[in-house]
Amino acid sequence: MKYIYGPVNSRRLGSSLGISLTSYKICDFDCIYCQLGKTHTLTGERKEYVKVDDIIEELKRWLKDNPEVAGSSQYITISGLGEPTLNTKIGEVINRIKTVTNIPLAVITNASKLSDLNIRVSLMRADLIVPSLDAVVQKVFAKIDRPKQNIKIEQIINGLIALRKEFRGKIWLEVMLVRGVNDDIRYIKKLNKVIEQINPNKIHLNSPVRTTSEPDIEPVDKNKLNKIKEILGDKCEIL
Ligand code: SF4
Repeated sequence: MKYIYGPVNSRRLGSSLGISLTSYKICDFDCIYCQLGKTHTLTGERKEYVKVDDIIEELKRWLKDNPEVAGSSQYITISGLGEPTLNTKIGEVINRIKTVTNIPLAVITNASKLSDLNIRVSLMRADLIVPSLDAVVQKVFAKIDRPKQNIKIEQIINGLIALRKEFRGKIWLEVMLVRGVNDDIRYIKKLNKVIEQINPNKIHLNSPVRTTSEPDIEPVDKNKLNKIKEILGDKCEIL
């Protein structure tokens, strides 16, 4: 399989069949904690990195060959080897997946393109969107996510607020916390104010446990994670 992987058992989504809309590793961020390693092509350019017809054909074949596994899959998840919203055809992929299966569809995104109305509209038929928000000030954003130069965190936050108003499905916001980078309690209080404006259905707290892009990345300890969870309130879960 070229574009489809899994199903993988994910802590967030249960049994989930993954689909990648880019080849390795095309992203407009180069997060210090990325499990895929360093960003190979740091770009914000949108194009049809992977052909829609090829993805749909592969998915149809997989569904035909694996009816039992498909029946027990909780999600088909658009995510993969880079940032999926960089693929100009993401909306068409979502629409066509909806014509071949009833398995709920999730999109995992770094949220960098959500300030663009057309891109938000292209995601509307998804059942679940899992966007990331690791920072609420530019300095911390630059340090943890190392975005392409022209990306501003305010635009991302505004895009997330707009998405919540327009999108009828579920939004589970993911926050990756790295010790000494974005886990200061005063900072978490600022983060909380922004998350209140975004109003996601759930907040998932994560901290790196696997191999990361940079060598000296440390997870936040359990006690502090619990304290942060308390600040972020009832919707918050530690993954
Ligand atoms: S946005 Fe995702 S794929 Fe891109 S560098 Fe960050 S963790 Fe890796």
